[in-house]
Amino acid sequence: MSTLGSAQNPLCVAIVGSGPSGFYSTEALIRSELTVKVDMFERLPSPYGLVRSGVAPDHQKLKQAIQVYAKIAEQPEFNFIGNVTVGRDISVAELCTTHHAVILTYGAETNRRLGISGDDLPGSHTATEFVGWYNGHPDYRDRIFDLSHETAVIIGQGNVAADVSRILAKNVDELKHTDIAEHALAVLAESNIKNIYIIGRRGPAQAKFASKEIKEFGELEICDPIVDPDELLLNPASENELRDKSNSGSKKNYDILSKYSSLPTSNKQRQCHFTFLKSPIKIIGDGRVEKIILEKNKLTGDPMRQSARGTGRTIELETGIVFSSIGYRGLSMPGVPFNDDWGVLANSDGRIVDADNKPLPQLYCAGWIKRGPTGIIGTNRADSVATVAALLEDVKNMDADEHKNGAEGAYLILDNKGIRHISFSDWKKIDQKELERGLPNAKPREKFTYIKEMLELLD
Ligand code: NAP
Repeated sequence: MSTLGSAQNPLCVAIVGSGPSGFYSTEALIRSELTVKVDMFERLPSPYGLVRSGVAPDHQKLKQAIQVYAKIAEQPEFNFIGNVTVGRDISVAELCTTHHAVILTYGAETNRRLGISGDDLPGSHTATEFVGWYNGHPDYRDRIFDLSHETAVIIGQGNVAADVSRILAKNVDELKHTDIAEHALAVLAESNIKNIYIIGRRGPAQAKFASKEIKEFGELEICDPIVDPDELLLNPASENELRDKSNSGSKKNYDILSKYSSLPTSNKQRQCHFTFLKSPIKIIGDGRVEKIILEKNKLTGDPMRQSARGTGRTIELETGIVFSSIGYRGLSMPGVPFNDDWGVLANSDGRIVDADNKPLPQLYCAGWIKRGPTGIIGTNRADSVATVAALLEDVKNMDADEHKNGAEGAYLILDNKGIRHISFSDWKKIDQKELERGLPNAKPREKFTYIKEMLELLD
């Protein structure tokens, strides 16, 4: 047979997951010197992963990445197979029979749990659920968030915690012309929340917010940021950290927090309290969340590697709702080695490896399921390019004579199992309808929040 990657014998690659890493991997494959055919599998009928259902609705600019992905999707080498869950509807092993290589780019879908007593009480939620709910993700459509209490607590000080807090802090007029889901807007309109506590286990010098995100809290219509100046006192190691030139983001955060600590008394409807050096140890309530017990911490260790250690002193905070926003975690995929400690697929620079760290043929990964949930959207580009470079390097070792029928083979497997799959032009119909549904309320779109609704539209 002719060379693999030629027009007569294109390299067939299956990509699992349609978020940023899936599209950046596709782009890198299409830009390579080889002739490729890319089939992207997505469990929802809608593409774009966390750009559609993770990025906060009031950050529409970040969603412009979708325009880049839509352009990639127009390329003749690209094919979308939506509404198909790899690992359930079709296995990775089956994809290895239809494609020369499989790149797993399905992200880190779940939230890490606090694992403390009371974590499972009604009113205790993960940030992932709330973010999915206000963004109209079908998995979280029917979650219930009770915002009747005056105090909400968010554990964690990363950008997701900032998103969750900001959505709670904003007035509905600030949100109603975004693509926030209608059901979420209705609940937020009735919110009684007045106090939002964003709680960090380490100090103000270690908060993981991007400074742009924390700055937004000074610009909200009905909410002021509150910082107790005593909480900004630094130990010598933290002072050292803030002097480090490579740590300018943390220095910026600290300066913004210092500015907040000297603001005049707030007379706005809501207050967002940034508080540090406290870890949740227990959530208490009779049938639902009523209180959270926090232990005060001190920092130990060298600069840039300080960790929080409990002091035994506790405080309690009355609250009706707790969100843990302590990072995402990847889920395993049947038949693919998984590193349970890290919550990522076992891999060496994007090549899936066995227990002896030996690369397994045909299998690759990129994005959060490769390196963990870190970085911004753009970080996934270089990451995906690196994985595709490894794959292309391995093409010389692949069997050019082994026939792979790509999408055709995958459709056969799915059709035999009676699995309904949708194409990119099907998605474009759903997309168009969402855009139209947004018009009456001057929203960029009104998303469909049930898979059934999307499929019915196509029927
Ligand atoms: P993150 O940045 O890793 O922040 C997690 C936070 O949880 C940290 O403050 C961490 O504290 C804390 N934490 C972890 N375990 C804890 C525990 N057991 N108890 C108390 N606190 C704990 O994660 P993320 O906010 O989920 O964000 C994930 C990624 O998405 C990040 O790369 C983020 O930048 C990105 N993102 C970007 C944007 C944007 O660009 N606008 C928006 C959303 C998300 P320690 O520091 O002490 O570990």
